[in-house]
Amino acid sequence: MHSAIFHGPGKPLILEDRPIPEPGAGQVLIKVGRCGICGSDVKMTDERSPVHFASGCTPGHEYAGEIAALGQGVSGLKVGDRVTALPVGGCGRCPSCLAGDPYACTACSYLMGGFAEYTLAQAAFVTRLPASLSLDDGALVEPLACGSQAMRLSGATPQSRILIMGAGPMGLAALYWARQMGCRSVALCATSRRNADRAMNMGATAFLEADDDLADRVTEALGAPADIVFECTGSVGAISRSVDLVSARGTVVSSGMCFDAEPFTAGPATMKQVRLQFSMAYVLSDFHRAIDAFDAGHVEPRAMVSEQIALSALPAKLESLRSRHAGCKIMVKPD
Ligand SMILES: [Zn+2]
Ligand SMILES: [Zn+2]
Repeated sequence: MHSAIFHGPGKPLILEDRPIPEPGAGQVLIKVGRCGICGSDVKMTDERSPVHFASGCTPGHEYAGEIAALGQGVSGLKVGDRVTALPVGGCGRCPSCLAGDPYACTACSYLMGGFAEYTLAQAAFVTRLPASLSLDDGALVEPLACGSQAMRLSGATPQSRILIMGAGPMGLAALYWARQMGCRSVALCATSRRNADRAMNMGATAFLEADDDLADRVTEALGAPADIVFECTGSVGAISRSVDLVSARGTVVSSGMCFDAEPFTAGPATMKQVRLQFSMAYVLSDFHRAIDAFDAGHVEPRAMVSEQIALSALPAKLESLRSRHAGCKIMVKPD
């Protein structure tokens, strides 16, 4: 099978011929139909980043496909099922695994592998897709689940005034869940208007371009300072900026994943008594929540898909994304 292999920071992925993996006990083999490119795929393969994928791995963690084979002891799933999966494995027995939160398992391992024709997943973390969901929809479940967890951890209520920093897929996912919750004041702020139409079509009540008098314009757009700021850019200094923009006693949720040193002065956050919450990934129920929302007809996130490319075009595309991002969510399709 074709598989896009990471050979170390600063080197483009290489498409190689690899044997189709055999599912171990408790695993399933999935024939990948779609896999989204995540901002973290760009970051974790970049030589400028201090944190990288393991050399020799196949990235790709936002996928959907069809079960091609079952490992020993797998029940409740069958060959041909259309599915998506948490792209990690866990021990399967600890309280975290049993609660559908393998990221908190001490044996958590990153399976990923979506940038290939086939990949393995742990059956306990595989979920079936209803017929109403396309494979593109299925591959959007993972990024939407990230937003679902960020929203859950924020403690937002329908009355919350919300500011989202960043209009990429993470920011748009936060917007989606804020609107699903019934929030009526949700402003997005970004450094370019590239995704302004997407944001407005997904229900943003204001789209602001970042500049010096942002605080005033946020207050104008929301009617008051933001109760909750979702930091979805991952840029250096973004947490301090979010603290500056949030209201007294407000909450900043950081899901932007910045690996560089963050200049942060505690004083302003202390004086406002800001709650700072970090969020990465999701638990299994966030996957179910995203699938159920799609199945109920809330398919606005389809607007996030900006391009489909073949797996063979992925290495060059990933390199081009290091300097310039022209779209939103790019879907990779095995050739
Ligand atoms: Zn991702
Ligand atoms: Zn475990």
